[in-house]
Amino acid sequence: MSSPFAVTTCRLWFCVLCAVCAVRAAADPPETRVELEPYVTAVLQGGVKLYVECALPSGDGREILGRLMANSGDWRFFLDRSMVRIPYSRLNPATQRRALQALFSQDSVDVRGWRHVVTVDGPDGAESPFALAEWLTGRGTHASQFRLENGSGLPEGPLRKGMVLIMPYAFLLPHMRPVAGSGDSPQVSAPVPQASHDVASVPLNDVKQNESESEGSPPATADKPNSSAEPPPPPVEEAVSTEPDTTAPQSAGGESSGLSSSSGNLLTYGQDKKGRYAEYRLQSGESLYTAVVIRFTDIREHKEILKACDEIMRRSGIRDINRMPAGQRVRIPLDMLSAEYLPEDAPQRQEFEEVRQKARALRGKTPRTRNLKGVVVVIDPGHGGVDPGTKWGDLYEDEVVYDMACRLKEILETRSAAKTYMTMLDESQQYVPVSSRKFSHDSDEYVLVTPKYHNTDKDKSVQLRSARANYIYRQELKAGTPAEKMVFVSIHVDSIQNPQVRGTTVYVPAARLLGAVRTPSGSFKELKDVPAAHFSRDQAQTHEAMSRNLAEQIVLALRKSAPPIATLSHGDPVRNTIRNEKGNFVPWVLKHNLIPNRVLVETANIQNAVDRSLLSDPVWRQRYAEALYTALCRYFE
Ligand SMILES: [Zn+2]
Repeated sequence: MSSPFAVTTCRLWFCVLCAVCAVRAAADPPETRVELEPYVTAVLQGGVKLYVECALPSGDGREILGRLMANSGDWRFFLDRSMVRIPYSRLNPATQRRALQALFSQDSVDVRGWRHVVTVDGPDGAESPFALAEWLTGRGTHASQFRLENGSGLPEGPLRKGMVLIMPYAFLLPHMRPVAGSGDSPQVSAPVPQASHDVASVPLNDVKQNESESEGSPPATADKPNSSAEPPPPPVEEAVSTEPDTTAPQSAGGESSGLSSSSGNLLTYGQDKKGRYAEYRLQSGESLYTAVVIRFTDIREHKEILKACDEIMRRSGIRDINRMPAGQRVRIPLDMLSAEYLPEDAPQRQEFEEVRQKARALRGKTPRTRNLKGVVVVIDPGHGGVDPGTKWGDLYEDEVVYDMACRLKEILETRSAAKTYMTMLDESQQYVPVSSRKFSHDSDEYVLVTPKYHNTDKDKSVQLRSARANYIYRQELKAGTPAEKMVFVSIHVDSIQNPQVRGTTVYVPAARLLGAVRTPSGSFKELKDVPAAHFSRDQAQTHEAMSRNLAEQIVLALRKSAPPIATLSHGDPVRNTIRNEKGNFVPWVLKHNLIPNRVLVETANIQNAVDRSLLSDPVWRQRYAEALYTALCRYFE
């Protein structure tokens, strides 16, 4: 809590990781959809993202999902939804193959290898050899093994429609090889047997309870590509997936009903001589950075994430991060985990469940209004003045989020009966959104306190913005607005220094970290005669619960936007703390804020090429603001 003023996810990071895959910038990626069976559709998005979509008929979800997923117990995570997207990496081998052959109907396989015909190219998305290699061989870095049909290597630049690529037989995952008995028949369409080498369906609950710190040679898996033909290890940490796992289960808890040691869980728990740990089995193509640290912990700073990876490697006896087979057991120290991934007997997990239950109980008790009548929305563009937030080239967080804030304000004022307030004003721009991809960066934003505060100190600015929110809260309360009808939305751009991570994270305040509400010192009107305020445990939990319900509506509205707006690619997109070397903290604007429904939205990751391209696209920014508006409407419906 040493630096509670700063929203540390928004620091300046300039270093670009050497990405093995080239993710094409895509505004609205084209989609190919093929029905596999009733309710089940294979979808290829932008040429690189592959998933299976299930419209679940009520009651049959378990059976259908169980049949498609690598871990047949995972159906539990999706029970309460009517539409489910299963990322390719979570499908079982037979379904993976079915999806590929359905989407790429011209492909075939024989003893020479898999023959792929490129079908998607264009300015908004193209196929990537990395993604194809990932699907066919389990490793994106096997892309270097692709040959054109005439034997030559792949040309530089993007793949073009009609090109024919061959992935040699030796590299294919066993379930991608020709089906036994079908001879040299080139068609893939022969029935695929339920794969017997389904490593991913190995139950996850057989935790070794022994004290051994030995290397514990990883389980032999048939999922591993033919090792006799193993090419050199990839240049960076394991074969990072090009498929953002946008539908990762919401939490290890899924439902609070005793999943913690069931095979439906992602984690199991054990103990070694260093204490208790959670164990996860890496799936093919997963890395520690994203599949473990980003997903299961609240650590967001690059340096800290690397430290966590190191610690996990040591604890798990992993010597070479570049040689982790699928199924590799990974031990995560308990104190690193987000509350929702802790075992059920951990106090923080119990509080997490308590808040969740409270949130459920509060659903439907939110005051209902037509068209947001009587609702007050305080919109906080996260940066400005001397503080540009994060940046990439000439893309500045403060300009992007100010634009999105103006769009949300405009929508609310023209289409709803809500009352809006901003925390900041850009003097030259006023409240006019920017309609181009280019922003001119200025620093004349000021905080709307009296007298106005030209941002000369970034911490002061943050404090004054929540002081303004609290002032509005007290004034509105006096005027008769119920507290439950007040909303605070802070808009930001994330900077997670891994180009694989993308999408929105919505932060809510963690009840356990709420206490005294601090007011900065100064001679502003908003700071005068401020009564002392302190959250009781019950109030704090209620605020977290209400904010969670709002956050869930935001996540839902983003996912339902057409085309969908990505939410966090690895793990639960709703979080309540950020963890740094000093421990867990809640950003100041959420912690020292009285408005009960409050969220901080990290809209996208500036380190990801696709996200970056979207951030600079005015059409996307408008769609995003519309989704926030939709979420608010639903929340008060
Ligand atoms: Zn920020």
